[in-house]
Order: sequence, then structure tokens, then C-alpha cells
Amino acid sequence: MSQSLNSNDSMTEQGTSITRSVDVAIVGAGFAGLYLLQKFRQMGLSAQVFEAGDGVGGTWYWNRYPGARCDAESMAYSYSFSPELEQEWEWTERYATQAEILRYINHVADRFELWSDIKLETRVTHVNYSDESHRWSVKTDKGDEVDAQFCIMATGCLSTPQIPNITNLNDFAGPTYYASQWPHEGVDFTDKTVGIVGTGSSAIQAIPVIAQQAKHLTVFQRTPNFSVPANNAPLDPKWVEGYKKNYPDHREDYRLDRVSSFGDLMIPDEYRGMSETMITSVPIEEARETMERYWQFGGAKFIGAFIDTMVSEEANAIVADFVREKIRQTVDDPAVADLLSPMTYPIGTKRICVDSNYFETFNRANVSIVDVATNPIETVTANGLRTTADEYEFDILVLATGFDAMTGSLLKMNITGVDGLSLKDKWAEGPKSYLGLGVHGFPNMFTITGPGSPSVLSNMIVSIEQHIEWICEFIASMRDNGTDYFEVDSAAEEQWVEHVNEVAAATLFPKAGSWYMGANIPGKPRIFMPYAGGVAPYRELCDDVAADHYRGFNIA
Ligand code: NAP
Repeated sequence: MSQSLNSNDSMTEQGTSITRSVDVAIVGAGFAGLYLLQKFRQMGLSAQVFEAGDGVGGTWYWNRYPGARCDAESMAYSYSFSPELEQEWEWTERYATQAEILRYINHVADRFELWSDIKLETRVTHVNYSDESHRWSVKTDKGDEVDAQFCIMATGCLSTPQIPNITNLNDFAGPTYYASQWPHEGVDFTDKTVGIVGTGSSAIQAIPVIAQQAKHLTVFQRTPNFSVPANNAPLDPKWVEGYKKNYPDHREDYRLDRVSSFGDLMIPDEYRGMSETMITSVPIEEARETMERYWQFGGAKFIGAFIDTMVSEEANAIVADFVREKIRQTVDDPAVADLLSPMTYPIGTKRICVDSNYFETFNRANVSIVDVATNPIETVTANGLRTTADEYEFDILVLATGFDAMTGSLLKMNITGVDGLSLKDKWAEGPKSYLGLGVHGFPNMFTITGPGSPSVLSNMIVSIEQHIEWICEFIASMRDNGTDYFEVDSAAEEQWVEHVNEVAAATLFPKAGSWYMGANIPGKPRIFMPYAGGVAPYRELCDDVAADHYRGFNIA
């Protein structure tokens, strides 16, 4: 099925809408979309990017809530593809703020002159494969129509906000803000009473900051979360200089998982590498000492202090007890400490949070917590909300209620493949893909960090770069061989899905009603979506598939 790529690249501007025939259509202008565009341009392919936001940055464009910052360390949460870029950019803190990351990604768009092929404020509404032309048609809410050989979903894993099914949500008379769609001009909480629903990563970052400004903050908590102090600090320029000298080695450490996949940049040598020790094999005092060191060091690396934490309930309970003890030591009121202590799922099975003064915030006189697991929210009212036990009033409502993770954005786009098969139908019982990269029945379509790949269990930038580089090599090899069509083999897909499930079943992950499992969305199939086999083995496997003539992909 050989057509020469880049042969029909004409662009016509029709008012504000584009009609264009390109080699590659890309949905999303976050970290993945920008790097894809840069790579395809280098390969001499034409590409069109559509982005719903009025700026680039994806998750870092939308999530501007107070206190938003990355929980992977800044020197590693950045592109590695350009040595010049990594040398010239100066991160200022161990964990970058949302604003700093957004400046970085805008700098990348400027530096590589990417803007001309990105259409902002444009939402993709239809993505349809033609059995006749073997090309994709991409349509948008602005009337654009792009016809493309390949279609790549760079839509992010956490980009479709969950609207909670709380009765009369729209009845609140004051302003309501979603953490994931925060107003660009910010929100002034001075002298205001505030109610916040949710205690996940977003809320855990926002609560300490809102509490400093608001007159009173009421936190409505359904499920408490485990959280580890970030120990954020300004980066020492001398340390940065030394680190930059060895940037390629550090990047390789991340690619090969020689550091925790969550990030551990400022980590002293003794913490480098994944732990090989089982907590159940050492005396409890030694285990506690190790956990204390990790706790003081700060960050999500804590969860990797022992190798058996995510696979043994006994091991996990020791780590969870340690954190609950920390909560009790930090929170003055024992009843509040109890409420904030997770008891219903193993630590790490819901994404571990990383905070700055979260538990300490509950010692403030202007902060209170309401347990909406025991007394669920009945309804939002004009002045606040009512639970089955009481009524609460506040001026501003904040919803930090999470996302339809990993599949939400893909399923919103009306994607249809061969014979008009819709992705929604194909994934009705949960996402199925080969390597998290491609889906049987959807030829020439790739998903970046899709379900079935390590994605949200890894440093996202490392995984994004790995997928993009692998895809580009695949497309280049197809061009070299005079082919331009692939479809995932159905048996290869089945086997991969089975493997993903087997690996997940060997861990404790399925024991929590987490967004990893789709459990936060009513009616969503409960399947552990990411691949828990590790970033390094996964990379090796993808490379092996490529070396074996792209095993599992039927190419024509
Ligand atoms: P989340 O972890 O899904 O938390 C949502 C919260 O809202 C939960 O506490 C949930 O309670 C609550 N909730 C939802 N519907 C509710 C309802 N109807 N009534 C009461 N409570 C309700 O979402 P998130 O905090 O936005 O974080 C999602 C992910 O984004 C994180 O796990 C992380 O991967 C990523 N993230 C990363 C960073 C970072 O890098 N620092 C920051 C923010 C987010 P239940 O648990 O009971 O459902």
C-alpha cells in the first residue's frame, strides 16, 4: 500500500478554518505534541497539530490551581532530545511550579519555531479512518478538515476533568472553580470562606496555599490519601552545573530505570538505583530507619525504599503504618489525624501524593475537615452544600475531583477505524492496545503513553520521548521499505492485554478503587490501565519488537 509520503501537502486557509492534507495529524500540543511536531519536521514530514487550549502545555496549561507543581524533579521532568535546550534552560527549584513549566514549554515552542503548525483553541471532534483512501480524516469544532496518512493521539493521560455526580452542582450561587480548569487570572481568596471537594494530588497541593489566604477553608474528604513531604527547595547553581556536565548519563539512568521512575535527582549516591531490599527481610528498626531517611529526603521515591512494598501486603502494611504514624505526629487533633489516615487501601495503589505542609495545614484555626464518606454530600445548595449530617456555607466552591484518566480524552473524539468501528465500542469493556502504542482496527494510528504502556507509572517525559522516538523510527523504516500502512495484529494485541493484566495482578494495584483502575468514574470498566512491568523492561521489549521487523504490526 505504498503512496509517497509528503506528496500532497497543500494548505488552504478558509477564514479561520484549515483544509490540509498532511503526513501526520497530531491531537494535542502538550509535551508529546510539541516533540512529535519537532521530530516530524526533522524527518521532512508535514504535520498539523490541533490543541483545545489557547496556549501550548497540555496539563500544565490547564492545571493552574494554587500550589500546582510537578511531583517529578524538574531537571528530569524536561526534554532530553536537545543538548542545547537542556544546557540553556535554568530550573530554579527541585520541583518546578506549573508557571515555570509553562514558561519552559513556551520557550520550546519558540526555540524550535513550532507555532505555525499548531492550531490553538481548536477541539478535535471527529477522527475517522477511510477504508478507501487508507487515510485519516480529522475534523474540529472550528470547521477544520485535515486528511492525514498517520494520526497520533498526544492527548495526555489526565486531561478530561471529571464532573462529579453531586446533586444540584449548578445551584451554587458563588463562583465554582475546577482545579483542572483554573482561571488564568487566578482567584483571590482574601476574606473569603471556601469549600473544597477532593483530597487527591491536586487538592493536597492547593489546600495549604488556599488556607494561607482564605478566611476559612472547609475540606470535604471522601477518601484520605497517603502523602509524602516534597522537601522542595531552590536548586543550588553549583549542583546544577555539576549535574548538567553529566546530563546524558542522568538521562540514561532514567531511560534504563536506574533511578526510581518517579524521580530522585538530588538524591545522594546511597539512594541511587532501585532498592533491592525487602522490608520483610530486615529488622523493623532498620526498616524504620531507612523509611525515615527517605521521608526526610522527601518525594515519591519513598514508595520505592523497599522492593516488596507494592507486591506484598505484609510489606505494604509496615510502610503504611509508618506514614500513618507520621500523620498522627503532625496533626494536633487525634480525631482529625484519624480522619486523614488512609485505612482502606494499600499505600501506593492510589497514586502517592507529594506535598508541602499538607497535614500541618489541618492545625490551622481557619481549616476544618468534613468526612463525606460517613456522611455523603446530599446536594449543593445556593450557599454551600449539605451532607446527610449537616449544612455548610461558603463563598467559593473548589472542585478537585480528578479526571477520566487515560481513556477519557480518546473516547470523546469520535474515533472510528476500519469498517466504521468506533473506539468507544472497541473499548467498551476496557482499553485494549498493543504496547499502549496502537490498536487493532485503527491502522496508522498511534497513542502516546496510551493505556497498556508504563505512562502514568513513570516520569511522563521519559515515556513520551521513548514512544515518540520509537514511532518515528517505525515510520522511517516503513518509508525506507516503500510501505506506509500498518495495523496492529489482533493476536498480538490480545497477548499484550493479557500480559498487562497478569503483571498488574501480581501487584497490589488492583486492591484500590483508583483512577488507574477507572474506579473514579461511574460505569467505567475496572481494569488496571497502565503497564506495571517497569520502564526499562518495557523499553527493551519495544526495541525487541522493532528489531524483529515490528513483530505484531502487519505492514503493507
Ligand atoms: P484524584 O486523585 O482523582 O482525586 C480526586 C478527589 O476528588 C478524590 O479525593 C475523590 O475522592 C474526590 N471526589 C471525586 N468525586 C467526588 C464526589 N462526588 N464526592 C466527594 N469527593 C469526590 O484527582 P487529582 O487530585 O486531580 O489527581 C489526579 C492525578 O493527577 C494524580 O494522581 C496525579 O497523577 C496527577 N497530578 C499530579 C500532580 C503533580 O505532579 N504534582 C498534581 C496534581 C495531579 P475518592 O478518592 O473517594 O474518589
